[in-house]
Amino acid sequence: MTKNHPVSYPSLFVSHGAPTLALEDNTVTRFLTNLGQNFTKPKAIVIVSAHFDQRRPTIAAASEFDTIYDFGGFPAALYDIRYPAKGSSEIALRVRELLLEAGLDPVMDDSRGLDHGTWVPLVHMYPNADVPVVQLSISMGQSPKWHFELGQALSGLRGEGVLIIGSGSASHNLRELMMGGHDQGDTVVPWVSDFTDWVTEKIETGDYQSVLAAITDAPEGKKNHPTMDHIHPLFFALGAGGSNVEVGARGKRIHASTTYGVLAMDIYAFGNEEEVSSAT
Ligand code: ZN
Repeated sequence: MTKNHPVSYPSLFVSHGAPTLALEDNTVTRFLTNLGQNFTKPKAIVIVSAHFDQRRPTIAAASEFDTIYDFGGFPAALYDIRYPAKGSSEIALRVRELLLEAGLDPVMDDSRGLDHGTWVPLVHMYPNADVPVVQLSISMGQSPKWHFELGQALSGLRGEGVLIIGSGSASHNLRELMMGGHDQGDTVVPWVSDFTDWVTEKIETGDYQSVLAAITDAPEGKKNHPTMDHIHPLFFALGAGGSNVEVGARGKRIHASTTYGVLAMDIYAFGNEEEVSSAT
């Protein structure tokens, strides 16, 4: 079921959770499935993955992608998953052009496959792997503002039939996850919900400057993200959505849930009202 063709797509931030999400059927996976079905099928997907860290903005631009199993100790069934998406040289070159115009320093990589930050959400959103993908890196040496500007540089693609996604995690403290004795169905702990609710309030009121400062200014920012890899894709999606109160664009939390009590699975859409509403 598809809705009317949107003027342009919102940008999305999705929490990809543990790799096993690819095998699960739960509230998040059903939401991701519906999310894919809500949109007219995009011409291509440009996705930033938390698991692709490069010094320079790197565009994974293979014509066909291998599936990368960048994790260990998970069930064998996970290694049977293939996500054989094709690339799009047209969109990869367009991304390169836009990043160059923004004064960034992109590099093309035509051998890199898709890591689980990309294929875990896409296996639910587009299970037939029939939308071409261009994967883009984060850069751990760079700031939230740099990732926001990386997104801003690509914002125009949303009006060119391209779905832009940042794939990370709304909270991501793996030490707590492993050591904390949490069960999958546990209710959310306050230090996680205090953080994610704060971020949501700033996003939904268009206060993007505060979002960019979330790690220092939000309650328990550092505890929710001891490292920046899984929140940089949020800053990217925020920038790609043109989330700036001056131009009337906002973000919205379109899904909220938690696994293991500490791993927030929130999903956001950014853009104008019509774009955001096309996601739900
Ligand atoms: Zn991850």
